[in-house]
Amino acid sequence: MTEVLETQIERGRELARISHWINGELVAGQSGRSGPVYNPATGEQTGEVDFATAQEVDRAVQAAQAAFPAWRATSLSKRSELLFRMREMFHQRREDIARILTAEHGKVLSDALGEVARGLEVIEYACGIPTLLKGEYSEQASTGIDVYSIRQPVGVVGGITPFNFPAMVPMWMFAPAIACGNTFVLKPSEKDPSASLLMAELLKEIGLPDGVFNVVHGDKVAVDALLDHSDIAAISFVGSTPVARYIYERGTKAGKRVQALAGAKNHMVVLPDADVEMAADAAVSAGYGSAGERCMAISVVVAVGDVADALVGAIQERLPKIKVGDGFEPDVEMGPLITREHRDRVASFIDKGREAGATVVADGRETAGDGDGFFLGPSLLDNVKPEMEVYLEEIFGPVLGVVRVDTYDEALRLVDENSYGNGTAIFTRDGGVARQFQFDVQAGMVGINVPIPVPVAYYSFGGWKDSLFGSSHIYGPEGIEFYTRGKVVTSRWPDPATSRVDLGFPQTR
Ligand code: NAD
Repeated sequence: MTEVLETQIERGRELARISHWINGELVAGQSGRSGPVYNPATGEQTGEVDFATAQEVDRAVQAAQAAFPAWRATSLSKRSELLFRMREMFHQRREDIARILTAEHGKVLSDALGEVARGLEVIEYACGIPTLLKGEYSEQASTGIDVYSIRQPVGVVGGITPFNFPAMVPMWMFAPAIACGNTFVLKPSEKDPSASLLMAELLKEIGLPDGVFNVVHGDKVAVDALLDHSDIAAISFVGSTPVARYIYERGTKAGKRVQALAGAKNHMVVLPDADVEMAADAAVSAGYGSAGERCMAISVVVAVGDVADALVGAIQERLPKIKVGDGFEPDVEMGPLITREHRDRVASFIDKGREAGATVVADGRETAGDGDGFFLGPSLLDNVKPEMEVYLEEIFGPVLGVVRVDTYDEALRLVDENSYGNGTAIFTRDGGVARQFQFDVQAGMVGINVPIPVPVAYYSFGGWKDSLFGSSHIYGPEGIEFYTRGKVVTSRWPDPATSRVDLGFPQTR
């Protein structure tokens, strides 16, 4: 077992020092600035993570820059072989990665394993890099002239990731970026940074050359250093909308290509003909899974017509069965929130909703249990109105709101007028209406009787409106495109028939 793991998952030991990973080794931070890392289920601090200075970020970028020429020249078959090894290694060690996620993020172990599995799908996709990078060829575009396209890596890629998927979101980025021949500097969330270090160790173990994958920890200082660094060619960001907007503006101003995936407020529309039991199961798993800390979580149920009473009743009935507790306990279904401050902010929306006129059907503070963990039970607000703060804000916790409307058109307008457009879902038995919804709706990912429509790895993931800055979705074909630049070659060769060197070609054709 690695040092990182030992210190992270065994309780009662001294604080883990979580350092940077540069050029294939752990490098202790020199800034004197650091931040606490907690086990959110106990409220105990388990680690202290170094915060990088601009100079430390520069060191990581220089390592990545130095590794780039040899890595981009590495053959496709060798790169693909390494991706296959990465897949095998991460699969073999999935339990170890998942345990770190549960220890620092708090999500239940089965969910953490699910996170690793979804990340592995993107690595599997990247194993096909020789096929994915194939260009096009037009013979005889003009007489004696051939034209063909190739895709080449952009250089050093910076990845800035959120707390809620500390393993999967980095995998969404580094697997395709590295497969394309780029080198990578990851700045993971400072709230749960250890999974990135285990992944770095595993990448070294499979034989990835030093400098191809680096990790710098930190806050805005480290992020700004990446955004401004002249040797960073591209930035992939996943996080909240205000930060995404900032990253996009500052990164593009510095001449980089930037994809910035942002916050969400995903609506699930339930039509009167829907299977109420199925819709209620979906709302519960998509609303409260991972304590609602998913960018594809359902946070608003839009109940159309007379389905509302039955649906709210069916959701309410399911809530007492959700066992809240430490994610390492086998029967627990919902873990804590990431920090005490975040838990308190999320909980404050219950009162805000009540004060604005919503009906509090379930108050998660009453079912949060005792202890110092950052827990909040599942909360349900009915009769939420679009002008309420609970509707407008991304809560990012286990507080599900129900908006009642009379018609499909009203439901659609609600989804479309919301500033976010990450995912959405419709529950109905009517294929024609579902098809119309898919045609009409202003969101990047749509589920039809599927509450969390995260695309499989061979499609790309991304939202619309304030859920995405930049034009490129992440992973899948758009990921390959983002991490490469196109080059088109137009070529003409001297006619061998008129060549001054006698190559033995017949003189007439
Ligand atoms: P966040 O925006 O606070 O942080 C994301 C990253 O940005 C972290 O690495 C953090 O250190 C850094 N950061 C934070 N504040 C910064 C600042 N002022 N300047 C520069 N860098 C800064 O997000 P979070 O709380 O870690 O994650 C939750 C958010 O991420 C939610 O809004 C969620 O919807 C979103 N998210 C979106 C997707 C998606 O695919 N669209 C996926 C996962 C999470």
